[in-house]
Amino acid sequence: MDVNACIADAVSSGRDTLDEGNGKKVLGSFGIKVPQSLLVPGPDAAGDAFSQLQAPLVAKIVSPDIIHKSDIGGVKVGLDSAESLEQALREIETAAKPHTDNIGGYLVEEMAPKGHEVVVGGSTDQTFGPIVMFGLGGIFVEVLADVAFRICPITTLDAQEMIDELKTVKLLRGARGGIVASEDAIVDTLMKVGGEEGMMLALEGKVTEIDINPLIVSESEAVAVDARFVLNKD
Ligand code: ADP
Ligand code: MG
Repeated sequence: MDVNACIADAVSSGRDTLDEGNGKKVLGSFGIKVPQSLLVPGPDAAGDAFSQLQAPLVAKIVSPDIIHKSDIGGVKVGLDSAESLEQALREIETAAKPHTDNIGGYLVEEMAPKGHEVVVGGSTDQTFGPIVMFGLGGIFVEVLADVAFRICPITTLDAQEMIDELKTVKLLRGARGGIVASEDAIVDTLMKVGGEEGMMLALEGKVTEIDINPLIVSESEAVAVDARFVLNKD
């Protein structure tokens, strides 16, 4: 996929973000692992989609009006039959209707292997230019603000230090009986966002913000299951 064409396309149709499907294509083209997925028009496509992907599956609303999909019932996980997928798509459709009349379809994708949900982001600081951030997902970022930032480009040593400096790093390392997350996979993802050849620099001027929330990190890999790109309209 041509990343620049994809971004130009979104901008020329008046969008200032990439939808999740296109965002994941951009991540994939930079070597970040994303789930196998299909964009389907509606519940009637469930049987066909189910047969093309490896269950269990996830179904999500695709709409420019809905940013936090799960808040409105727009995400269903663990779907293990064509029937449950169809049912989930119907429920998502019903849940979304009060919020938008612009449903761009439904993203149906494979579940990532179990792991820790972390957040990798990129943004553009007024003073420092492109920066990259890392933290554990959910309350750790939103409530405890346990996050690390660096100015781009980062080295692999910087990326490792971003992990090491988190107060919650013990959780990533298997505290309380949890999974031991692959730190190599996290470093690799941070480089692909904030490194010399990472997206923040490669797409500077076109993309102002990248939000991978969450990246699911298992013992052996990291999979980006949600992606938001904010585009520079000028
Ligand atoms: P949003 O952030 O818009 O509510 P997400 O796409 O992040 O929606 O999905 C919400 C949650 O559902 C994620 O935080 C994750 O726990 C789970 N999830 C979403 N997609 C997958 C997937 N492919 N594999 C495993 N879990 C997923
Ligand atoms: Mg998300």
